[in-house]
Amino acid sequence: MIVNDAAVKELLEKVKPATLVAATKYIDEKQIERLEACGCLYFGENRVQAFLEKYEQYHGKGHWHFIGTLQKNKVKYIIDKVELIHSVNSYHLIDELEKQAKKNNLKVHILLQVNIAKEESKHGFDEEEMDQVMEYLQDCPSLIVDGLMMMAPHIDPEQTRIYFQKTRQLRDQLKQKYPQYPLHELSMGMSEDYEIALEEGATIVRIGRALFKD
Ligand SMILES: *Cc1c(COP(=O)(O)O)cnc(C)c1O
Repeated sequence: MIVNDAAVKELLEKVKPATLVAATKYIDEKQIERLEACGCLYFGENRVQAFLEKYEQYHGKGHWHFIGTLQKNKVKYIIDKVELIHSVNSYHLIDELEKQAKKNNLKVHILLQVNIAKEESKHGFDEEEMDQVMEYLQDCPSLIVDGLMMMAPHIDPEQTRIYFQKTRQLRDQLKQKYPQYPLHELSMGMSEDYEIALEEGATIVRIGRALFKD
């Protein structure tokens, strides 16, 4: 796929002041440069191998986020290269992130992925589990919880509103309880449902297909 310049510029305006993270899984390095030329400076990749290839070739000023399922054994390849990991969804992954962050003398910014609609097919912590996760993180001084991330079910976008609302409420509760963390980010909304996600308080939208054309 290739970048649809007009769509990128329009969306950048439309989502303000939220951050538009372009999902780069659909495009190659040349197209990432084109995104940058349109003013889009946040890129989200969801596979480690593809990320490393694009990251090596890219020499611009953009910021890289990791948005996909992250395997524990791959943490070491990306930890010093991405600014935010959206998809932290298990205790094993938290352990490995803390270990590698310490080893590299880094503070690592993360989002906790929440399976807010309790879908079998989706990764993420359960809502009810989040207090326990936050307590667990007290022993992980290298990890900074910037907020929550969720993926809405593939249903009519208007029906997803409740899940965005629930994610925001959860974030607000955690922010009250754990003031030591920023917890200012809500990464939610993709091509189909970003408008509703923004209405419900998304601070980061992760958008792919709506930015590109064949
Ligand atoms: C691909 C992807 C997106 C963007 O999806 P679109 O429906 O193409 O906008 C968002 N988040 C994650 C984790 C993705 O893998």
